[in-house]
Amino acid sequence: MKYYSTNKEAPLASLKRAVIKGLAGDKGLYMPENIDLLKDFVIGEMKDMSFQEIACVVARALFGDDVNGDTLDQIIIDTLPFDTPVVPLHDNIYSLELFHGPTLAFKDVGARFMARLLGYFIDKEGVKDVNVLVATSGDTGSAVANGFLGVEGIKVYVLYPKGKVSAIQECQFTTLGQNITALEIEGTFDDCQALVKAAFMDEEMNEHSKLTSANSINIARFLPQAFYYFHAYGQLDKKGKADKLVVSVPSGNFGNLTAGLFAYWMGLPIRRFIAANNLNDVFLDYLKTGMYTPRPSVATLANAMDVGNPSNFARIIDLFSIYPHPYAAIRKRISGYRYTDEDIAATMRQVYRQYGYVLDPHGACGYQALADNKLTEGETGLFLETAHPAKFKNTVDEILGTDIVIPARLRAFMEGEKQSIPLGKDFAGFKNFFLQQ
Ligand SMILES: *Cc1c(COP(=O)(O)O)cnc(C)c1O
Repeated sequence: MKYYSTNKEAPLASLKRAVIKGLAGDKGLYMPENIDLLKDFVIGEMKDMSFQEIACVVARALFGDDVNGDTLDQIIIDTLPFDTPVVPLHDNIYSLELFHGPTLAFKDVGARFMARLLGYFIDKEGVKDVNVLVATSGDTGSAVANGFLGVEGIKVYVLYPKGKVSAIQECQFTTLGQNITALEIEGTFDDCQALVKAAFMDEEMNEHSKLTSANSINIARFLPQAFYYFHAYGQLDKKGKADKLVVSVPSGNFGNLTAGLFAYWMGLPIRRFIAANNLNDVFLDYLKTGMYTPRPSVATLANAMDVGNPSNFARIIDLFSIYPHPYAAIRKRISGYRYTDEDIAATMRQVYRQYGYVLDPHGACGYQALADNKLTEGETGLFLETAHPAKFKNTVDEILGTDIVIPARLRAFMEGEKQSIPLGKDFAGFKNFFLQQ
């Protein structure tokens, strides 16, 4: 399979090249040239299959041209020692709990898959010394650092804004050591992201060593997220609830929603999608006006969705460009909602009071968008619960008056010793540090 750039000005790339480069040379995002359709009966069998079995089928359809089936199966087994269960909330509303991985975030799926795929390219295809740069406001850094921990031939640099990441999140990428280096930047998340972007464009740094990104711009990070849409469908199908499925996705960079669209393109019968946003609602503006106007992000309770210029927007536009009227087609398939911090808190309280279910602030946006969307007769609503509420313990406890238990996995991180390197937000200092590594 070849991968093209959404900007159409870079040469086609192999899977290996697309994963190792992250972003195409023309700054576009890589897309597979073909999307294989799974047969209806294959999808029909998923109700009796495990998450790993389903992921093996989907992975072969996505990556089977480039990586042999047995290797892919092994990558899947190593990636997914956990499940993504669908949990009924009330009536026809279900929560897809994506937080049962090692760092309690859905990003574990993509990060672990990408680490193992890169590990395979290093082991078997002669790729050497890859450096992964990742800017994080919290969740991405922990999933990527843990996903790549101990993988030979890869060094990971996590750039995070000093004092702006919760203590629980910070300890998940600063206590690991080995091939993980945490860089505490004197600045904001946007400053961290700007440093990473500048590094990718800097010739000297790229000559010094291979640089790639583990954000959802990377094809190997975001595409595996399609796995759990199929698994969710299988679980609902088993209950006879999958016929008219509406999926609500709490969105920031829109990698998760784009992976859902890929599942749909592969034949998964999802009726429509909902993009649930916090105050960072450039996508909703696009749905309303047809104009895409990126803005600086604003801070909210659902901070993993504080994104003012979602990187996967380009992939969504590209997917729908096969239609004569892409904008109309997008509006037909995806609707949007936005929620303030007050809305998020009110939803969390209501769902806790009425159903005894603890939502995290991101999942709360997903749930509320389903509620506001008013499902029609026979439709089933599924929202993605993207993080374990304990990751946002202070916020959740304050809003709900609870004292939620921190899972043992998280507590173990909190006992480690913080090791991070303080750096300024100027590019020269960062580059100098990097070139000495
Ligand atoms: C990353 C993240 C999101 C946003 O996902 P995108 O793929 O960037 O849209 C939502 N919720 C949580 C908890 C996250 O960590």
